[in-house]
Amino acid sequence: MKTYLSVIIPLYNEEKNISPLYDILKKVLAKIGKSYEIIFVDDGSTDNSLKELLKLKNKDKNINIIQFQRNFGKSAGLNAAFKKAVGDVVITMDADLQDRPESIPKLINKLNQGYDLVSGWKYKRYDSIGKRFPSKIMNKIARIISGAKIHDFNCGLKAYKNEVVKNIQLYGDLHRYVPALAYWKGYKVGEEKVEHKKRIYGKSKYGLIRLMGAFDLLTIKFLNKYEKRPLYFFGPIGFLFALGGILSGIYLGFLWLKGYGIGDRPLLILSVLLILIGIQFISMGFIGDMITNIGKKDEYIIKKIH
Ligand code: UDP
Ligand code: MG
Repeated sequence: MKTYLSVIIPLYNEEKNISPLYDILKKVLAKIGKSYEIIFVDDGSTDNSLKELLKLKNKDKNINIIQFQRNFGKSAGLNAAFKKAVGDVVITMDADLQDRPESIPKLINKLNQGYDLVSGWKYKRYDSIGKRFPSKIMNKIARIISGAKIHDFNCGLKAYKNEVVKNIQLYGDLHRYVPALAYWKGYKVGEEKVEHKKRIYGKSKYGLIRLMGAFDLLTIKFLNKYEKRPLYFFGPIGFLFALGGILSGIYLGFLWLKGYGIGDRPLLILSVLLILIGIQFISMGFIGDMITNIGKKDEYIIKKIH
C-alpha cells in the first residue's frame, strides 16, 4: 500500500521525551487515519534514546530507525531521513515535545491548499529571551536575504511534499533555513501558526552558535547565485581594478607625452598594481568557471514533460 505520511524525528539524547512523544503522535496519526511511517534518526545519542526507540519499534512496525555512527547534527539527520522517506507528505518535528504533534493536521491542510512546503510558526514561543531575541534577528536577516516571507525559518515542525525533500540537500546547519532553500528552488512556501511548549525533559543542544547561521545563509546565497558561474562574481571586480589601473596609466601617458618625467610617480606603481590585480581576479573567475564545469550536475528540476 502506498504510504501517505512520513513523520521524521531527528533526536540527540532525548530519552525521556521519546515515549511520551510517541504516545501523543500515535493518537494524532490514528485521527488522521492514513497510512504512515515514522522515521526516527538517532543522531549518536549517548543516553538511552536508542533503547527507547528499539522498544517502540518492537510494538510498531511503522517505525524506522536510522542510527548514526556518531553525532552529526540535526541537518545530517534530516538529510538521511529525507532520502528514505516514501510518504506523499513528509512531516519533520523535534523530539523534545516543544513542537506539538497536535499541529500536524493543520500543516497538512495548509499544504493541500497548494503549497510545496508549509513551515510552522511558533508565534508564541516558550524559550528564554536569550534565545528568542537572536532568533528574531536571524529570522529578519533570513527574510531579507532569501526573499521568502516566513516569520520562523527554524521551526522544527514542517510539512513538505515528498519531491521537495528529495531536492533539498542539508549539511552544516542548513536545517535552520529550509524554507529559504526551497523558495530558491522555486517551490511555493507558506507558513501556519503552531503551538509551542517549554522543554520539560533534556536540554537544548543549540546555544549561541545559532547566531553563526547568518554566515551559512550568505554562503548559500553566494553559492546559489555564483556556484555555476564564479566568473560573474570575480569578473566585474577584476574589471573595476583593471579599469582604475588603465585610466591612471592613460593619464600618466599623457603627462609623459607632454614631456613630464613620470618614473618617480607613485601613481605609476598604483596603476600597474591595479591592472595586475584586475587580471588576477578575472583569471581567478575563469579558473573557477572551469572547475565548476568539470563533471557538471543539472541544477534544475523539470516540473513536467509535455
Ligand atoms: N538534535 C539532533 N542532533 C543534534 C542536536 C539536536 O538530532 O546534534 C535534535 C534534538 O534532539 C531535537 C531537535 O534536533 O529533537 C532540536 O534540537 P533542540 O531542541 O536542542 O534545538 P532548539 O529547539 O533549542 O533550537
Ligand atoms: Mg527544542
